[in-house]
Amino acid sequence: MSWSGAVDTALIVADRVTVSYGAEPVIVDIDLTVETGDMVSVVGPSGSGKSTLLKALLGGIKPRSGSVTRRPDLSVGFVPQVEQIDWNFPVTVAECVGMARSKGFRTPWISRSERREIDAVLDRLGLHGLGSRHIRNLSGGQQQRVFLARALFTGAEVIFLDEPTSGLDVKTRHEVLHLLADLNAEGVTVVLSTHDLNGIATHLPTIVCLNRTIIGAGRPDDVLVPDVLERTYGSPMQI
Ligand code: ADP
Ligand code: MG
Repeated sequence: MSWSGAVDTALIVADRVTVSYGAEPVIVDIDLTVETGDMVSVVGPSGSGKSTLLKALLGGIKPRSGSVTRRPDLSVGFVPQVEQIDWNFPVTVAECVGMARSKGFRTPWISRSERREIDAVLDRLGLHGLGSRHIRNLSGGQQQRVFLARALFTGAEVIFLDEPTSGLDVKTRHEVLHLLADLNAEGVTVVLSTHDLNGIATHLPTIVCLNRTIIGAGRPDDVLVPDVLERTYGSPMQI
């Protein structure tokens, strides 16, 4: 990860990105480069612009000024906040994963070879045997892993996760973290957001402290210093 311009390994480059929904910008002058192999946590209090930044990097929101450049053939996956998913959509786990490739095609036809691939991805994510289960009958941690499975099934090189540990118990939180670390070790680039500084951010190699703009970025030891934390959270923080 770097925040001063493009390099060869750059997957996504944000250059002076400002985003607004109304008159007031919610994130301002963001310079950020996501590079191959990164494992980055964007941290900041609620309302600091984390979700907005992820959406801007993904291309879901157009900046008011500045630019986001993604490597042209880059395959990205997005794992939404568990709380924001409509789990009443009537599909099974395998269908939910299979539909990730069909780009809006509504009928979840799954071929036998695809089903084998899906089962392999589910196994890898600790969802063995759950393919035929309705998605609404899963725990929060399992639902999240279904979305990770979707991203892996599409061959995503970069996976964005918005607040992946919110609403999860401590044990599940650790499982998610280990899983993400394993995926990262296998070459998947991971960008996540969290308001929970102590729970996960300190375990990741790179932290970006956000409060409308980037307050500090780098290794936890360098970034999680009193001055940066106070400017990020608006009050002194204990870590
Ligand atoms: P975070 O994810 O850090 O909680 P967000 O990116 O969701 O922050 O929100 C940043 C600011 O933008 C907040 O003040 C929020 O109210 C506002 N905001 C977010 N989404 C929208 C939207 N769709 N329309 C208007 N304002 C929004
Ligand atoms: Mg958010």
